[in-house]
Amino acid sequence: MKQFQLAYENDISFQSELEKIDHWRSANPSYTTIFRIYASGVDMEEIKHVCDILDEKMPDALYLGCASHANILDGAFADAKITMSCTIFEYETTRVKLLQLPFTEDRMIDSARELKEYCDANEWVSSVEMHATILGMPMRDFCAELCTLRSDIQVFGGGACNPDISDMGTTVFSKGKGFSTYGIVFLLLGGSDFHTYSMYISGWNPLERKFKVTRAERSVVYELDGEPAFNIYSRFLNIENNYDLVPNTLEFPLLMNDDGVDVLRSLIRVNDDDNSIIYTSEVPEGSDVRLAYGDPEMILTSIRHDGQNIADFQPDVIQVFSCAARKAFWSDENVSDETLVLNSIAPTSGFYTSGEFLRLDGIVRNFNSTLVIAAMREGEPKNERIISLYDAKLSEKESKRINLIRRFNAFIAASTAEFEELNRKLIVTSITDGLTKLYNRAEIESRIRSAIEERMQEEAPGALSLIMIDIDDFKKINDVYGHKEGDSVIVGISDVLRNVMSGVPSSAIGRWGGEEFMVLLPDSDINAATELAERIRTEFAAITYELSGCHTVSIGVAQAKDGEDADSLYCRVDEALYVAKANGKNQIVKQD
Ligand code: GH3
Ligand code: MG
Ligand code: MG
Repeated sequence: MKQFQLAYENDISFQSELEKIDHWRSANPSYTTIFRIYASGVDMEEIKHVCDILDEKMPDALYLGCASHANILDGAFADAKITMSCTIFEYETTRVKLLQLPFTEDRMIDSARELKEYCDANEWVSSVEMHATILGMPMRDFCAELCTLRSDIQVFGGGACNPDISDMGTTVFSKGKGFSTYGIVFLLLGGSDFHTYSMYISGWNPLERKFKVTRAERSVVYELDGEPAFNIYSRFLNIENNYDLVPNTLEFPLLMNDDGVDVLRSLIRVNDDDNSIIYTSEVPEGSDVRLAYGDPEMILTSIRHDGQNIADFQPDVIQVFSCAARKAFWSDENVSDETLVLNSIAPTSGFYTSGEFLRLDGIVRNFNSTLVIAAMREGEPKNERIISLYDAKLSEKESKRINLIRRFNAFIAASTAEFEELNRKLIVTSITDGLTKLYNRAEIESRIRSAIEERMQEEAPGALSLIMIDIDDFKKINDVYGHKEGDSVIVGISDVLRNVMSGVPSSAIGRWGGEEFMVLLPDSDINAATELAERIRTEFAAITYELSGCHTVSIGVAQAKDGEDADSLYCRVDEALYVAKANGKNQIVKQD
């Protein structure tokens, strides 16, 4: 496999490049020739013009391409608006097929099925490279359909894009099929001597703070944590919904977990009327998401470490699909740092995308912010010198940028972790009683109210009971042995309550007042509750305090009646307790 890489400058230089390629082809074994053409910010006429020249000067050559955010040539960000790679297959066994199909919401699944049918009928297919107009498209079902492809087929590719990523009008094209605003081009590759190795690199780390997607529909997220979605960007990142919105947020994609794999989503637009956000692809309602931020050291070291597998594979050519977000993150001057190292292995070209595709363990996913790499080779490895990427040193420029961002990252990670921990403690403190570590009055009351409300919604509600406990003659303990002893006895009854209720999963225990406690039993009738109350009474009575000896409790038990509200139930359980006290204490009274 031989690769020529060229930037279109003008017709004369282009034609002379084509002549060079023809010259090489006449002197070497050459079968199929295929051009991949990437066009960033050019009008259609110009791309058509380039295709026309190809059709005329090299009619046997196939080509495919798409609109891009920017191009990658010789492993680096290319200034040129139109760049091309020309791959020449040197093995007769290598097979190539182009399929250009519709990519509208109602036709995309059919296109995936058509691809599958072709692959099923053609066992030689081992790789599917794709270029598609994915912006704003629901990709989940489409990706799920691609998962049904034969398990040995690798799938990779990228979404067409514009220099302005919020500009959704993109295009894909291929030889003989023309241009499509809603299209997908599959380049099928295979044959007994053709080999591909595909992988991806992310390098985006989640920030600690987690958000719940409380309202979303496909790729539109309306609410995060119950607030208009864009609020998190303005509040946490100080990003305004203005002209710079997209470049500013590209560096902070949303990270979500898709069946065990971290997947990122970039923001493409904010709706002014409700501050909802349109992402590059689906963000399922109910999922937990985090903002993520690029870690330059992680990116560059993973290119060197994971990239070693590519060096070991000894490819002839490397295709890269790098997210537009990576270019925004690194800036034009530095973005080549992450792909140049690949060019030391084999000619590397590709483009900056609106989303990347990769099949991992059988599952095809639509990523954002990643760098998808597909290394290809014909024949067996030539066992020439295998390049060691581990040794490739970071340049001074790379190191400088790493140091700055790394420190900021470390600071953000550390402070958000501390904040989260503090927040967690605060939540625990706000619902817990300090002395007993049981729920405090507000919390147990709110739990009882919600349980009763829930019960009212049910058609055939189960039994719900309350147990109210009060220590007998507690004032005496305080008066005779001191407040400290009183505290120990309060802690003592709390431990008994915890112990008895540990076997009742849905129960909740709260400190109702000084030496009064309330137990919620959402799934127990009065008899079961009374049995538990009896265990509380006897277990507590069995404790002997060194200073003050043994103590007792009086207990009231009541079961909620149909339609009874919390206040009425409180009244009845309190009454039962009052009767227990009046009858001589150390006993249980049921309120029927
Ligand atoms: P009864 O048998 O009728 O319940 O009599 P009692 O002495 O227990 O009476 P009461 O329930 O009125 O007494 C509650 C006392 O508990 C009053 C208050 O000083 C004391 N107390 C309230 N909270 C605490 C606390 O956190 N620690 C201690 N040591 N005492 C408390
Ligand atoms: Mg008391
Ligand atoms: Mg009391």
